[in-house]
Amino acid sequence: MKRVIPKLLTWYQNSHRELPWRDTRNPYFIWVSEIILQQTRVDQGLNYYYRFVEKFPTISNLADATEQEVLIIWQGLGYYARARNMQFAAKQIVNEFNGEFPSHIKDILTLKGIGEYTAAAIASFAFQQPFPAIDGNVKRVTARFFGINAPINTRAFFQNAQNLLEEAIPNDCPDLFNQAMIELGALICLPTKPKCDICPLAELCFALHHNEIDSLPVVISKTKAKQVFLHFFSLEVLDSIVLHKRPSSGIWGGLYEFPSIESDSIDLPDYSSFLSDKFGIPKSSAPLKIKEVKHLLTHQNIHATLWEIKLNPAHFIINSSFYLVKKNELFNFPIHKLMLKFVT
Ligand code: SF4
Repeated sequence: MKRVIPKLLTWYQNSHRELPWRDTRNPYFIWVSEIILQQTRVDQGLNYYYRFVEKFPTISNLADATEQEVLIIWQGLGYYARARNMQFAAKQIVNEFNGEFPSHIKDILTLKGIGEYTAAAIASFAFQQPFPAIDGNVKRVTARFFGINAPINTRAFFQNAQNLLEEAIPNDCPDLFNQAMIELGALICLPTKPKCDICPLAELCFALHHNEIDSLPVVISKTKAKQVFLHFFSLEVLDSIVLHKRPSSGIWGGLYEFPSIESDSIDLPDYSSFLSDKFGIPKSSAPLKIKEVKHLLTHQNIHATLWEIKLNPAHFIINSSFYLVKKNELFNFPIHKLMLKFVT
């Protein structure tokens, strides 16, 4: 690979996108950008990045924030455990590293939520250390360039790719090499129809010269997504509405939503026992269907329906895991992406 690296670096210098986290050596900003980019595309991630570093400009600002403040900034990105892990890691840095982001990759890997890819990205971008940063894009480029046949999400693949890239990565510019490989995967070596005619690696690419572009990388098919039917209730009590805070672990952990029940179909299930158990309501008028939305998660296709019920305050008892909030204060609470589809 070493023979084509000069071409790769020249291509990167002439063709890369200008992004704020590429103009900094600040490991905190690089870390924030990497975690956001695990959740979303670059164009959407930019806004989140600016909002995050404006609200929490330093590690100690993030460590001192409330969970609610962090989740509101993260709102809409999904996988909220990542945001909570970042805050936990910020506290680790304050308590265990005197507030200085650790520079050694072994120390970086001790921070909660930071895996091999992110640690290598921070070590190379911020501290110029020669660790290959192997994200999904780099895996695809590496599988094709070297002709690696192991399935892309296996440890065998990762180990093989890491060994080959460790031999190739230049000691004098590991950051540029990693950025170039990531950018090449994003812009040129696309999953389908890669632009081999303008690729700086074309001269030595195994897949191109062995006609294996369509068969590499090897991907093991994913398990079929489960169909889930959720019914959310907009329970209105005069000018207020009921919110439920989800448990801190699991899907949408710590976020707020309308009270809901799961059923096995899109039809309205029996909701009367739910209302009487949770809120002491003996009976109510029939719910009015407000909206149906589909929401796709990695392993679940959620079919969600929002139903509205206006409640008589005289018959309403708030349960401890629910909150009665003014309708115009709804957006002071961090809510998940599916909820956003209901209320925006
Ligand atoms: S030559 Fe084609 S397949 Fe090979 S790395 Fe470049 S874009 Fe990917």
